[in-house]
Amino acid sequence: MTLSFDHTTEGARDALRARATPAEKPSLIGLTRAELGAALVASGIVPERQARMRTQQLWHWMYVRGVSDFAGMFNISKDLRAELDKHFTVARPEIVDEQISSDGTRKWLFRFPPRGAGRPVEIETVYIPEEGRGTLCISSQVGCTLTCSFCHTGTQKLVRNLTAEEILAQLLTARDRLGDFPDRDTPDGAIVPAEGRKVSNIVMMGMGEPLYNFEAVKKALLIASDGDGLSLSKRRITLSTSGVVPEIFRTGEEIGVMLAISLHATNDDLRDLLVPINKKYPLKELIAACRAYPGLSNARRITFEYVMLKDVNDSIDDAKGLIKLLKGIPAKINLIPFNPWPGTNYQCSDWETIEKFADYINNAGYASPIRTPRGRDILAACGQLKSESERMRKVDRLALEAMMIAGHGEA
Ligand code: SAH
Ligand code: SF4
Repeated sequence: MTLSFDHTTEGARDALRARATPAEKPSLIGLTRAELGAALVASGIVPERQARMRTQQLWHWMYVRGVSDFAGMFNISKDLRAELDKHFTVARPEIVDEQISSDGTRKWLFRFPPRGAGRPVEIETVYIPEEGRGTLCISSQVGCTLTCSFCHTGTQKLVRNLTAEEILAQLLTARDRLGDFPDRDTPDGAIVPAEGRKVSNIVMMGMGEPLYNFEAVKKALLIASDGDGLSLSKRRITLSTSGVVPEIFRTGEEIGVMLAISLHATNDDLRDLLVPINKKYPLKELIAACRAYPGLSNARRITFEYVMLKDVNDSIDDAKGLIKLLKGIPAKINLIPFNPWPGTNYQCSDWETIEKFADYINNAGYASPIRTPRGRDILAACGQLKSESERMRKVDRLALEAMMIAGHGEA
């Protein structure tokens, strides 16, 4: 199957750019309530005694109504709206490109200011509609400091961490574009869940290691799950980590979202090669951290991601090792067919091998969905992308897209 993408037209692209955040004004998106109140008072436009009330008003407009312009905040006086607009912004980031596949998958290429990186940075966010839910795959960093040998992002240097605002901007803009705020229309022909929210789940499975950007990720996810705002259930938010053991407990304790572990191997020798952070935090420590994950139960299982690499980790002995390793942990196993990228030495396991592996795991009592090779179709279609001088290199984008779509989780 080949998927076709409607690229953003030039006119629409200009319109999207016009909505972009002017770099010089600080954004109110991504601040905690306390920080938001303090920023309003420090600007001199809101007296201290009104800080709480104004914070609540703004919070509602930004996160419940999804307003991206102070002018739309009708219960705030015109004068104050004008003052807010002088000092701050709640605008969306620049959308460089928006693509829609024939199966409803959507991809946005966002451009954010350099913030010390030397040049503007670009990241992608992917939306995957399925029966009964719509999952948004969000990035936490531009590049990654880790060097997992099968991951294309691992070959890129870290450019910078994303801010809490930039992490949330991916969710807010996706909801804008899908008409997923009150009183907004969903675009004609959009493929979205038949009922409920268009973005019902989020997974931190895009570019970067979220636990190496802990504070910003924590802030963004606490805002995303705030009951008086974006209000996504923490059970519908999954954070995927390669295994930054010291931050795993904190994730459960301080953020309280669902956890996914990029496992990929069941012995240290192999995991050292595939996921080199294993040399620092070997399997024994990783598994102990999983067992101690706050809130772990059968209803709140950990997802273990396992990329299927031909003749590397795909034998029945590996499947046995996996079951042994995870014994006693409430777990789901997500088998991800490897998505090849230019220059990689790995190959994806044969389909038959993947099915045998999955059967073994199912028979041992684990749910083990295989991520469909949807990503590959999209990869093919993405070959048609135009390149511009400032854009992320095309090969980097293709590999990233494939990874995000393949690993989009099972939350
Ligand atoms: N850095 C975090 C989150 C992003 S990666 C982590 O490693 O968990 C999201 C998932 O995609 C991870 O499980 C990752 O191991 C997997 N992945 C990376 N490259 C892949 C590839 N080429 N094919 C299939 N899955 C890949
Ligand atoms: Fe970084 Fe995750 Fe890729 Fe490893 S798999 S290099 S941690 S993005």
